[in-house]
Amino acid sequence: MINVTKTFLPPQTEYQSILKYAWDTGWITNRGVLVRELEGKLRDYLKVPDVLLMTNGTLPLQIAIKALGLKREIITTPFSYVATTSSIIWEGCTPVFVDIHPEYLTIDETKIEAAITSKTSAILATHVFGNPCDVEAIEAIAIKYNLKVIYDAAHCFGVTYRGQSIFNYGDASTCSFHATKLFHTGEGGALFCKSDQFDKMYWHHNFGHDGQESFHGLGINAKMSELQAAMGLAVLPYLSHVLESRKTVIDAYNEALYGLDIQLLGLRKHTEWNNSYYPIIFKNESQLLAVKNALNQANIFPRRYFYPSLNTVKYINGKSMPISERIASRALCLPLYSGLSNANIERIITIVKKELCW
Ligand SMILES: *Cc1c(COP(=O)(O)O)cnc(C)c1O
Repeated sequence: MINVTKTFLPPQTEYQSILKYAWDTGWITNRGVLVRELEGKLRDYLKVPDVLLMTNGTLPLQIAIKALGLKREIITTPFSYVATTSSIIWEGCTPVFVDIHPEYLTIDETKIEAAITSKTSAILATHVFGNPCDVEAIEAIAIKYNLKVIYDAAHCFGVTYRGQSIFNYGDASTCSFHATKLFHTGEGGALFCKSDQFDKMYWHHNFGHDGQESFHGLGINAKMSELQAAMGLAVLPYLSHVLESRKTVIDAYNEALYGLDIQLLGLRKHTEWNNSYYPIIFKNESQLLAVKNALNQANIFPRRYFYPSLNTVKYINGKSMPISERIASRALCLPLYSGLSNANIERIITIVKKELCW
């Protein structure tokens, strides 16, 4: 069976030898040696001033909304994973959708101003498939209207824009280290923010403690455990191998699919991308379903990312977003992971082309 992704697992002995610290010290959570070591290594690897590791990629979104004091309306994108919107609602705010750019798939910055009201407190946008939003335009709007900016950068591990980490943009950015993501700790995530916000984010992620017996204020538990950090430390040395191996798959797909009547991901200029996803946007939904069914018949399971468009989710009930809905109904991510064999890449390509060229 071939799934859309396959978790990269480091040699088990290497994971175990890192875990030995936890056994030797009897310390398996509450920001032990391993969490702090991983934070240090990620700071260096990503070239960011600070990293705050958390137990998944959703809590940092909620903590950022809380810590930045966001209220009432938050402008956001309908083309993302549900966690982007659900975090807004969970924090008691209202998501106000702005449609997406048809080529870049990120929030359409030219439509943001029209959605701003006296209740707007922030923009929460997603860098889709590692493709950055127009961060300069969004920053200019935020300054003009005094809004905060949060980026859901769950897909963006290692992405740089204009020569620096994409995590450095906005008031806060979040990443996911879920097992399906490029770099992972099983479950896990991180928060990046401006240095003057760091302490507050930190307190929030640890019950609000600012000492063993004292509290700075309200908090929640979003701490990463030592067991999660050990996985990250074991995976990190293999990242360049993972990236190269994914690049081989992407090159093969690109070469085979070039010139067909489909849309591929349009990367924004000045972006150094991370080979994170391979979406195909078909001409229509029936073409997508035909390709998906043909692949499924061969025990190959691509995924519809992102589907459905979040404005159509029942409990969210946003207003109509024609571009996002149209893209969501036609976008399929092909299997992409290190270790996908050439023979399997060829099988996938053959099936896709056969359905497309019928
Ligand atoms: C994976 C993902 C999340 C959630 O991350 P978790 O680590 O699973 O909580 C949020 N937003 C986007 C865009 C994602 O792809």
